[in-house]
Amino acid sequence: LVSRENHPDRSVVRVGGVPIGPGTMTLIAGPCAVETPEQTLGAARLAQSAGATLLRGGAFKPRTSPYAFQGLGEKGLRILADVRAETGMPIVTEVVDARDVELVASYADMLQVGTRNMQNFALLQAVGAAGRPVMLKRGMNATIEEWLMAAEYIAQRGNLDIVLCERGIRTFEKATRNTLDISAVPVAQRLSHLPVIVDPSHSGGRRDLVLPLTRAAIAVGADGVIIDVHPHPESALCDGPQALVDGDVRELAATVRDLPPVV
Ligand code: PEP
Repeated sequence: LVSRENHPDRSVVRVGGVPIGPGTMTLIAGPCAVETPEQTLGAARLAQSAGATLLRGGAFKPRTSPYAFQGLGEKGLRILADVRAETGMPIVTEVVDARDVELVASYADMLQVGTRNMQNFALLQAVGAAGRPVMLKRGMNATIEEWLMAAEYIAQRGNLDIVLCERGIRTFEKATRNTLDISAVPVAQRLSHLPVIVDPSHSGGRRDLVLPLTRAAIAVGADGVIIDVHPHPESALCDGPQALVDGDVRELAATVRDLPPVV
C-alpha cells in the first residue's frame, strides 16, 4: 500500500489544511515537551513568527529513563488545544500507548509515533484506525524496509495519510546522539509514495547541528523538517540542549525559505 510500485506519484498529506509532500518544505516546530501554557504559547509564537505552519509538542513523553519527565498527559493535550485556538497552528503530538489513541486523536491534528514505538504493532494498527494523519518516525535500530513495513501496518487499517520521519539511527559514533541517515530520505522516497521529513533536533541532539542538518535535509529533497524550539531552553524539562531559541529559529526559517525545495 505504501510502495511506489502501485502508486507512482508521490503523495501529499494534509494536516489541518497544511500540505506535506513533493514541492513543500513544511516547517514543523515547537517544544519537545509541553511544560506550561506560557512555555507552549511562547514556543508556538517563536515557531510561527519564523514561518512554521505546524506546531509540535509532546504531552506523552517516551523517555529512556523512567525517572525523567514523562509529560503532562491529557493536561498537556488541553494546553496544546488552547495554543492552537490562540495561534491557528494545527498540532502534531505523540501517542505512546494504543489505549490512548482515541484520547490523543480527539485533540491532535496529526498523531506522532516515535522511534521507540516504530514496531509497536498494536499502536500502529490503532493509529491506522484513528482517522488522523500519522507521522511515523524511523526506529533508531530499524532498516528502511522495516520502517516501510511499519507504515504498511498503518495503511492496512485504511489510513494512507502517513508522513515518514528520518530521525537518526544508532551507529558506533558518539559525537552525536544518533547518526542522521540522510540517504534514507531519497531512498524512502524512491521506494514509497509517502512524504519524508527529517528531525534534525532529535538525531543530532545538539543545537549547533540543527541548521546544518536542516540544510542537508533540504538538499536531498526532504518534504519538511520538524524541530524543537523553546523560549528558555536552559530550564527545559526535556532535551533543552537541542532546542533552538529566537535568533536561531529565524536563521533556520530563512534557510528553509531561501533554499528551494527539490521536487
Ligand atoms: C520527539 O519527537 O518528541 C521524540 C521523542 O522523538 P524520537 O521518537 O525521534 O526520539
